[in-house]
Amino acid sequence: MLHVFKFGGASVKDASAVRNVSAILRSFIDKKDKLVIVVSAMGKTTNLLEGIFRAAKAGQKKEFEQILQQIEEYHYGLTDELFNGEREKIVYKILQKYIFQLSATLKDDEPNWDKHYDQVICFGELMSSTILAEYLKKEHNDKCLWIDARRFVQTNDRWREGQIDWEWSEQLIKTELLPILEQRFALTQGFIGGTIGGKTTTLGREGSDFTAAIFAYCLQADGVTIWKDVAGILNADPKRIKNTRLFKQISYSDAAEMTYYGATVIHPKTIRPLAAKDIPLYVRSFLKAETEGTKIGNFDTFPSIPSIIVKNNQSILIFKAKDLAAINERNQLAYIHSELNRCNIKINLLQVSATAFLVCTNSDERKFYSLKESLNTDFDLSVLDNLELITVKNYDEETLLNFTGLGNAFIAQRSQDIFQVVVKK
Ligand code: ASP
Ligand code: MG
Repeated sequence: MLHVFKFGGASVKDASAVRNVSAILRSFIDKKDKLVIVVSAMGKTTNLLEGIFRAAKAGQKKEFEQILQQIEEYHYGLTDELFNGEREKIVYKILQKYIFQLSATLKDDEPNWDKHYDQVICFGELMSSTILAEYLKKEHNDKCLWIDARRFVQTNDRWREGQIDWEWSEQLIKTELLPILEQRFALTQGFIGGTIGGKTTTLGREGSDFTAAIFAYCLQADGVTIWKDVAGILNADPKRIKNTRLFKQISYSDAAEMTYYGATVIHPKTIRPLAAKDIPLYVRSFLKAETEGTKIGNFDTFPSIPSIIVKNNQSILIFKAKDLAAINERNQLAYIHSELNRCNIKINLLQVSATAFLVCTNSDERKFYSLKESLNTDFDLSVLDNLELITVKNYDEETLLNFTGLGNAFIAQRSQDIFQVVVKK
């Protein structure tokens, strides 16, 4: 069997979590399964890296030093616990190199913000995979091989949202990675890829799940497992709602739909490559590795219980024509659509009234600013922030009354099986 496993930041957030990962792997290694392990940055490291990146850009020296120290202490502390502080071990040398490179890259004079971001943000995954690989080597007779994902996951230079060159990646992975798996298991980074020019790209926040799907697709794996701190895919967020239920199995298309509406258990891009090759996706708990979790595959029914999905960080853009023309006159809608497209603003929900066009989208000040600039002559654009989009699939009246705060919805829409509201957070 060939499995691709993905371990996210929470599953490697401290030394005992790393030991737990090693324990989970043991039975698969003993069975001589082929394994590709994809790991994210440890804990909240990616957020710290975004913080230090902003500090560097803004020239905030104190902040910069502080966060750098925080990143360093966190990774060294964790490594000390795993390697009994034996500082002569190679893992420390590699860490030191990355910390040095990170600090140098931050100081680079790179005018392209997004390109610079990618060169910096990748160090979370590089450090995490190094520590895990060295630890797994120690625990599993050197059977683990550290692999640089940027050599295999080839993307274009759309920074922060690299688009995969599937053909090339597949060829590299098949010819160079597959033979290695006969002897050893591979450990690589999620979230990062490389361009033809040798630069680093990232695949979008939380993109490590997608990386796992890319490797699985290219290797025609038997399955992908995403190890999470939840039991599997639930019908609602247990932090918000009592009596949640676990889906034992759901179809690719239902899973894709749920991620589209904002379910964060799996990254939205994960499903498609797997569905294309009929590779099952398992979502399982690394805290209760003996339980089965959820299987996503070629199933044709959706369990008919209400599912509640919340998408955070939403804004509503309200477009009004300056001359009070009806919004559907003179191709206004087509114009607004093309502007949204140009600014790469994705519509999560929309509503057209006589004089206004409302779009619910992911909050992004920078994009809104550029939209405002270009629409200024024809439209008044106002923005409502701090909202969330709540979607109820298979809704019933009781669920609606209990959970969605209907009274103060900015937008509410209902179709046969989907109910959506945009409400204040
Ligand atoms: N470390 C990255 C992030 O936090 C990628 C991932 O976790 O999937 O966004
Ligand atoms: Mg993460």
